[in-house]
Amino acid sequence: MIDTENFDSLGLIEPLMEALRSQGYEKPTPIQARAIPIILKRKDLLGCARTGTGKTAAFALPSLQLLKTEPKPIEPRSVRMLVLTPTRELAAQVEESFRVYGANTGLRFALAFGGVGKAPQAKALAKGVDVLVATPGRLLDLRNDGSLRLDAVEFFVLDEADRMLDMGFIHDMRKVFSYLPKKRQTLLFSATMPKAIQEIAANILIDPEYVSVDPASAPASGIDQRLYYAAKEQKRALLIKLLSDGSVERALVFTRTKHLANRIAAQLNNAAIKAEAIHANKSQTHRTKVLAAFKSCELRVLVATDIAARGIDIDELPHVINFEIPNEPETYVHRIGRTARAGSTGIAISFCEDEERPFIKAIEKLTGNQIPVQFLPELPDVPALPILPRGPRQQAKPKRTEVKEKTREPSKALRKAEPRLLGAIAREDAKREPGITRAPEQGGAAQRGQSDRSSSQRGPADRAPMGRSPSERGQNQRSLPPRPERRPNLEGDSAIRDSIAAEIRNATGGFHDRPSRPSLPGYSTGPERREERQPISAQGRRSPTPPPRKGYGDQQPQRG
Ligand code: AMP
Repeated sequence: MIDTENFDSLGLIEPLMEALRSQGYEKPTPIQARAIPIILKRKDLLGCARTGTGKTAAFALPSLQLLKTEPKPIEPRSVRMLVLTPTRELAAQVEESFRVYGANTGLRFALAFGGVGKAPQAKALAKGVDVLVATPGRLLDLRNDGSLRLDAVEFFVLDEADRMLDMGFIHDMRKVFSYLPKKRQTLLFSATMPKAIQEIAANILIDPEYVSVDPASAPASGIDQRLYYAAKEQKRALLIKLLSDGSVERALVFTRTKHLANRIAAQLNNAAIKAEAIHANKSQTHRTKVLAAFKSCELRVLVATDIAARGIDIDELPHVINFEIPNEPETYVHRIGRTARAGSTGIAISFCEDEERPFIKAIEKLTGNQIPVQFLPELPDVPALPILPRGPRQQAKPKRTEVKEKTREPSKALRKAEPRLLGAIAREDAKREPGITRAPEQGGAAQRGQSDRSSSQRGPADRAPMGRSPSERGQNQRSLPPRPERRPNLEGDSAIRDSIAAEIRNATGGFHDRPSRPSLPGYSTGPERREERQPISAQGRRSPTPPPRKGYGDQQPQRG
């Protein structure tokens, strides 16, 4: 039985326990209690968990232990462990976590992402490292120019896989999978489990265990959600009113577009409210600086697009404001999850205009809760939003290609995996949300299990390898829909700064400079903090019944 009350029962080695003590972590979070033993047993893992649940330590601690206790010489330009994340901010945070948790292991770590100079990253990889945390574009650049080899990877973590797809990284991901050795341990984490993620899981994981906590369909319990119905032209005045009358002290404001983020930030500054915009067209240096200012409370308002804000860990953020309602309900859950992180409390305020009412309906359907509507206060007169010139890059930027899940059928590998993998997902869902049947895209195993197209009906065109060739896996795979040979320019062009990695580390976590990392209340800190806050939901939930230990399909997939 897993003891969720302390780390001792997890069998972690002393250097890691020492790091945990120095961080003030007293007991594992549910994802840690469940994932660590599985990973230590060398099993592949499919984890349904979002940031804020302690998932980084859940994969970092056991893999650091395996790297430390099973040392191997590292070839130049090689890495033993690769962690792939969708955004630079998340990559920087994850690498920082590895440094913190692995501080006493003597292992070597590196970070690689675009928008900053490649040479220092290539230099850091020259002698080889134990752990590399990278975003897909820069990883492929480094590999393609010979600065990096991926043929010695023993541990591969795909973090925030659903966001990778949203950001159009499927093509890059497939390339990365194809460069990895067959013999490896793979861990896939995703906040949601849409069909496309299950397909990827079926292709890159072998006989995985499934662990799910705190699903993205359920906002953290400490979030007080509020809704204002306001006309488009009233939203700016409402924002200024809330920021001026003392009801909102510091806020992360979400917009759908980069241009609107810029305009709102400009208008707030005109109203003497210190604000900055953060999005993919801003240089990495700017993003880093602004994020650091916001985290240190120097900056009151951060106006962000979803991609820029995804996964960033901002402690004690009391307010999230949805200036526009996202059209995907899961995005709403992700957005408001920026507050009430790690079990704390927060307020999420949404401004909804008429056209956005259907989005609110979809959100309420997903979360199963009605968002309480607030009376619109008397609003101040505010000048029109400033018109800002659109930069040439914004105009020229191509539209991202989204992965069209709805048009795709489950692959053969997925259909074969269904009774086990999807059964486990369904059992988790049923435990968590009794009575709620989830749509196929949300992990509804029953519906997905009924593909009527048998494998014999599929032609050769349906088969394409992903990560491992059909013969290697002992089964044919159906390729995902083709997409243009283009990578979205999500990372911006910024001034090249050799020292940027260190700067990012300070700005996005700054853990070296702080006495200890922020802890999950209810898990580690002193009694006063424990009293103030609720522990993370799903705490103490037990593992689902482990699926039968068989490979996907009838034939056991082979590992190199
Ligand atoms: P993550 O979900 O990995 O982004 O972690 C969210 C926050 O929880 C980070 O600030 C971690 O430092 C913190 N944290 C992770 N594990 C624990 C734990 N067992 N006890 C207390 N805090 C933790």
